[in-house]
Amino acid sequence: MKRIGFIGLGNMGAPMARNLIRAGHAVTVFDLQRTPVQTLVAEGATAADSALAAARDQEIVISMLPAGKHVHGLYLREAGILQVVADNTLLVDCSTISADEARTVASAAEQQGLTFIDAPVSGGVAGAAAGTLTFICGGPADAVETVRPVLETMGKAVFHAGGSGAGQIAKMCNNMLLGVLMIGTAEALNLADANGLDPALVSEIMKASSGNNWALQVYNPWPGVMETSPASRGYEGGFLTDLIVKDLGLAMDAGLKANVSLPMGSLASALYRAHSASGNGGLDFSSVLRLLRGIDPTN
Ligand code: NAD
Repeated sequence: MKRIGFIGLGNMGAPMARNLIRAGHAVTVFDLQRTPVQTLVAEGATAADSALAAARDQEIVISMLPAGKHVHGLYLREAGILQVVADNTLLVDCSTISADEARTVASAAEQQGLTFIDAPVSGGVAGAAAGTLTFICGGPADAVETVRPVLETMGKAVFHAGGSGAGQIAKMCNNMLLGVLMIGTAEALNLADANGLDPALVSEIMKASSGNNWALQVYNPWPGVMETSPASRGYEGGFLTDLIVKDLGLAMDAGLKANVSLPMGSLASALYRAHSASGNGGLDFSSVLRLLRGIDPTN
């Protein structure tokens, strides 16, 4: 049993914290919103009335916030949590942010004698609820090993990608590929439909052929083909277009800094941004099919 402070109880953070509570850890929670705090307190968490209070006197602090500016606000502001945590507290940020933003926090932590790990996740809201996330960690190997049993109560796989920031780089590589393959899958199904073929049948054909991929297996973008995919519930919930836009932006920045060509990622980034600008930012990213089909988001 560990004493854990958990900050950020949104779509991902709340179910992650719930799995820690279920595993028997002593979890103190904080979010700017009161409702998720109250829900988790009813399930066994302790409420903190500020992020600082949640971080004090813990063995591990986990944050799950929207973007880099929130993570910097939490850790780096003058009265940020680096100033209040106990000497041996391990800091674990699971938000998806840039590698540079993660490294900035890690080096500020190091100056205070603390260790900060970037540990973004893959697996989505369903994976967070089921405790089957993949954690992709960057930071000192011994710190990753220390936190591994705790992460394994929220996930099925924990990888150590390398030094500080490496978790974020590996995560953005994955999400860039995810963004590309979702558009490619939508494009192939649209071609099938435009030629009078049944997208459900063509999905089965591709699943048994060399075009098989994760979108076809568990996240088919064509409405009605897969009962459990967001496409079959009007693209509500799931992984928002605006989040893939953010992640592709992080990948494009990292590509620019490393001077590598990212032609497919760049095109995917432009297409999802256009899709978001047409009013689809709050829909699941597989709704990019609508961009290809010219469907008005208000219909
Ligand atoms: P979310 O917007 O649902 O939740 C973020 C939570 O952080 C909110 O409840 C908000 O009130 C809280 N918050 C913001 N600033 C805070 C602060 N200073 N102190 C305390 N709480 C604060 O976002 P999410 O979907 O849970 O995603 C979190 C992170 O995980 C993002 O970086 C996202 O890119 C990444 N991610 C999301 C998914 C997904 O499918 N949703 C999958 C993998 C990774």
